[in-house]
Amino acid sequence: MSNAAIVADGQRVQAPGRALAKVVTWRAERIADPVERLGYLRSSAAFWGRKPVRSALADARLHRVSAFLAFAMLLPVPMITDGAAPRRTVQAASKADAFANVWTVDDAQDHTLYSNGLRVEKKFQAAPRAAMKFQRWRIDTGAREESPGPYGIVFHTTESDTAVYEESNNRRLRRAAEGTAGFVQSQRAYHFVIDKFGRVFRTVPENEPANHAGASVWADEKYFFVNMNHSFLGVSFDGQSRGPDGRPSVTEPQIQSARLLTEVLRSRYRIPASNCVTHAQVSVNTSNMGVGYHTDWAAGFPFARLGLPVNYLTPLPAITQFGFGFEDYYSNLAADELQDGISAGETILRQDAMRRGLSTAAYRKFLAKRFRDVEDPHRYIAFSEPETRSSNQ
Ligand SMILES: [Zn+2]
Repeated sequence: MSNAAIVADGQRVQAPGRALAKVVTWRAERIADPVERLGYLRSSAAFWGRKPVRSALADARLHRVSAFLAFAMLLPVPMITDGAAPRRTVQAASKADAFANVWTVDDAQDHTLYSNGLRVEKKFQAAPRAAMKFQRWRIDTGAREESPGPYGIVFHTTESDTAVYEESNNRRLRRAAEGTAGFVQSQRAYHFVIDKFGRVFRTVPENEPANHAGASVWADEKYFFVNMNHSFLGVSFDGQSRGPDGRPSVTEPQIQSARLLTEVLRSRYRIPASNCVTHAQVSVNTSNMGVGYHTDWAAGFPFARLGLPVNYLTPLPAITQFGFGFEDYYSNLAADELQDGISAGETILRQDAMRRGLSTAAYRKFLAKRFRDVEDPHRYIAFSEPETRSSNQ
């Protein structure tokens, strides 16, 4: 099948965007010479830059491919030193973040009301413990930094199997939701739970870590985050991201409340839109160095409805930063856009390896060691390179 055939056919079940990205990647990785390879990528982009007749759907998907190619080609080449490479992500090209002007209207004993209409219930809020600092690492130096505020949001589902959302089940739905919120509170499992009726329960205060992300990796343009209980807030929809019909079993009120909650949290903590992501995007398995140990919201997350960009497209930081791999079960579950994020991550990884004159396997090994160094607080200093440290005082 030629590229042109794929381009012209917007009705194909498999996303042309993904197919094209795979074709480009597949071809490009067979070109040994980096200059020749770059030329190939450029000419591919020029070809797709033409405007063939196609459906709006195909257009949208091609837009994804263009973003992917622009991303693969135009990013700055990091200095080759010890491999602690400055990394860039797709957010580098995004426009500056705008934050809503939201304030607390009433902080009552049993709830907090915010000016955008969000009401947060305190009935299942865990008792405060000592506030802890949140942590992140600079990409350019590897230095660890702390601050009191969270840096992002990880979205989850509780995976609870509750009753059908209809009036006759009111009692069951309410009791099930409160049971879930109480359990989450006892486990300090997320910061917020949103039930089927859109009620938002704060279960852990925002200035404390919650046990929601486990082994996990994310990065923005300046920082990376590892084991993100201590970096990001956890917000969980009570329901399943893959319900009985394969689609998310979340309700319209849940989505509306999630939008308001996201707006409040982003505004209060100045959280960039690019750091609002799903558990499936950040979760990793450190025993086999694979992404997607947890797969909630691997597909179907309503980014746009929450006022967010489709962050599935971000080249997966676990791959680009630490060389994690992925298995078929993960890409089979993943949304088309997340598959694009995986492909873009893989392409960047291979390019970075090539710049260092390493095989991809050798470079992955190097990055895996880097990951272990970051995980071990006694060793993370060794992560920075001497020249970089001295020039960044
Ligand atoms: Zn989760």
